[in-house]
Amino acid sequence: MSRKETILRAAKRTAEEVRAVTAKNRELKSRGNKNLGIKPHKHCLVCWKPIDMDYEDGICDSESCIKINEKRQKSRKRWEVLLYVFAGIFFISIIVQYVASGT
Ligand SMILES: [Zn+2]
Repeated sequence: MSRKETILRAAKRTAEEVRAVTAKNRELKSRGNKNLGIKPHKHCLVCWKPIDMDYEDGICDSESCIKINEKRQKSRKRWEVLLYVFAGIFFISIIVQYVASGT
């Protein structure tokens, strides 16, 4: 067997392997697409029920979910305010220390 023939045979085998792998990948991909056949949606932030993309708040129609979300947003805002207040106090104390040590 000539050297050329061996190389040719090896190349052919590699090509066949590549073809097999791509075929497998394609099969996996199409299977994945089938699973993604569900139309785009999101989930309610409170009860995780699937809802339409149109719901901008990310909350379903349920009254309890709306109430819970309102409560959450209120407490989140309160925490944000507290965070700013603490950051302000922190910076003021640093400035005060800096000024006090400077004189
Ligand atoms: Zn909900």
